[in-house]
Amino acid sequence: MIVDLHTHFLDDAQHLTPRMRDDLARCGMDPHAYRFTEEEYLEGTRAADRAVVFGIRGGKTGWQVENGFVSSFVKRNPKYIYFASIDPTENDYMDQLAYEHEVNHCKGVKLGPVYQGVHPLAPEYYRIFAYCQRHRLPIITHMATTFSSGVPLEYARPVHMDQAVCDFPELKIVIAHLGHPWIEECVAAIRHQPNLYADLSALYYRPYQFYQAMTLVKEYGVSGKVFFGSDFPATTTAGSIQGIRRMNDLVQGTAFPRFPEELLEEIINRDSLSILEIEG
Ligand SMILES: [Zn+2]
Repeated sequence: MIVDLHTHFLDDAQHLTPRMRDDLARCGMDPHAYRFTEEEYLEGTRAADRAVVFGIRGGKTGWQVENGFVSSFVKRNPKYIYFASIDPTENDYMDQLAYEHEVNHCKGVKLGPVYQGVHPLAPEYYRIFAYCQRHRLPIITHMATTFSSGVPLEYARPVHMDQAVCDFPELKIVIAHLGHPWIEECVAAIRHQPNLYADLSALYYRPYQFYQAMTLVKEYGVSGKVFFGSDFPATTTAGSIQGIRRMNDLVQGTAFPRFPEELLEEIINRDSLSILEIEG
């Protein structure tokens, strides 16, 4: 079974603010990178048997995808698993969390302190962590760099999640994108803490960094804690699988070690939903 643990759903026309387009353009990215139809989303994630889907709410950096937009899509498409995005700068964020959990039945929560402009260990997040631990909701959090400007990158450092699970030991947290560029920090943290995991989404198209990242994953013995994800629309599920399988092309004909193909296949086929106690 292939689980794509990291996909975005939004409507570019409604949800992409000028601020986000400016940030994308400034970083040399396509300002229309998030323009896709529902049909294109379905097609882009077709290679997954199941896929986790979320919007991002981060008022500080212009991200304002409504949770209802995502949850209503999931109600029509049961292959997908809904995670609610909660922005602690919104006054009613704890009510929103309870509503998305009790009424819209989110299976987890998506956070992104570097989009939300709140320190990842601030009391607001601790309230969210406490709720998620109590209700056994896993968290996927963007602890990695981003094109969105205006929030200190310190808020994106993966090592903060090491502290978070010291304080909430039953809470399962997935650090998105292997914490790039702080991959060593992410690998150390997921090795250190039983309930910390990482996804490898949106990495394969920086082939040198990806090879180096996965070599660290192997050398520290943490490949069992790495989950597959695509970060659609950054890439499709099928494109990610193909890119990951081609990882060793970089070192073909050199003395650098190949990443074991069987470990790559284990990651691609890992049942992250069972491990995160979402299903199964
Ligand atoms: Zn993402």
